[in-house]
Amino acid sequence: MTTNPPKNQFASDNYAGICPEVWQALQEADSGYATSYGDDPWTAKACDALRDFFETDCEVFFVFNGTAANSLSLATLCQSYHSVICHDMAHVETDECGASEFFSNGTKLLTVGGKDGKVDLAEVEHTVKKRSDIHYPKPQVLSITQTTELGTIYSPDDLIAIHGLTKRLNLKLHMDGARFANAVAASQIQPKELTWRAGVDVLTFGGTKNGMPMGEAVVFFDKSLANEFDYRCKQAGQLASKMRYLSAPWFGLLKDGAILKHAGHANACARKLGDAISAIPGVKRVHPTEANAVFVQLPESTISALRDKGWVFYTFIGSGHCRFMCSWATTEADITALTNDIQKITDNG
Ligand SMILES: *Cc1c(COP(=O)(O)O)cnc(C)c1O
Repeated sequence: MTTNPPKNQFASDNYAGICPEVWQALQEADSGYATSYGDDPWTAKACDALRDFFETDCEVFFVFNGTAANSLSLATLCQSYHSVICHDMAHVETDECGASEFFSNGTKLLTVGGKDGKVDLAEVEHTVKKRSDIHYPKPQVLSITQTTELGTIYSPDDLIAIHGLTKRLNLKLHMDGARFANAVAASQIQPKELTWRAGVDVLTFGGTKNGMPMGEAVVFFDKSLANEFDYRCKQAGQLASKMRYLSAPWFGLLKDGAILKHAGHANACARKLGDAISAIPGVKRVHPTEANAVFVQLPESTISALRDKGWVFYTFIGSGHCRFMCSWATTEADITALTNDIQKITDNG
């Protein structure tokens, strides 16, 4: 089945195209021959750009998508008899088709609840401590998502508390940062403060949702954990032979702060959209808009009227409310058009 391309959409930031800085980097990398499988100057430059971004000597790998980045990094942190604790709405739990369990040969995900998409630390502790016998899959990793699936952000204080807990419980810390750039732009805090200084061992850093054609970086802040990760990528079909086209976009995106400019734009659009539509009677905001997603509750009749007008958006994320997701490519006109349509539907309601 093919679907006509949506004109009116707030479905996902992966509906957006390729941002200009990434196009330019691709074009520059597309000159002459280059050594394959990552042994090329573009990949070296991209790795260095990421080390600069995080202000540390980290180990970096480029893979095609987030599912691979998450599941391969979790698999590398675990033995098959271990478990990974995550939020019950975590992408690794709900949207990756069991990839973490598959690539780890059976490591179990144990879910916890928590308000607005953030893990409840008491539940994490309970999940670790409730059993210590050999019959229970041994907790090894806490995986958190930044920004969360519900568009919220773990603040530096949240991360300090999480780090305290993971140290105490001897858990590794994995961060699914499909929208990590949005978290950095929104909190205006150095990337290092949101990652390795906060105890993050491995970060899945998303490029796709912030202007790349595809691609995520797996960043190991604890370099010893990256041992043989290259074999894991290759075996999983995630080693690009023409690596320069997967790595050069990172160089383009990190150069001159383009990544934070685009993420900041997406966040600002969401703030504007959230403020505008939540002022309309019948529209109820259900999670704080802290990054680039707006979650609201709308009357069923409004939802179907919006769909009739051609609007595309998700209602299957989290607790089933409407999610309006902004991207680097969202325009003022998009925001006005959606706001006006919701207003009109409400007025005619
Ligand atoms: C989009 C997304 C991913 C990556 O998904 P892929 O489709 O595999 O690239 C991972 N985590 C979160 C929270 C996401 O929103």
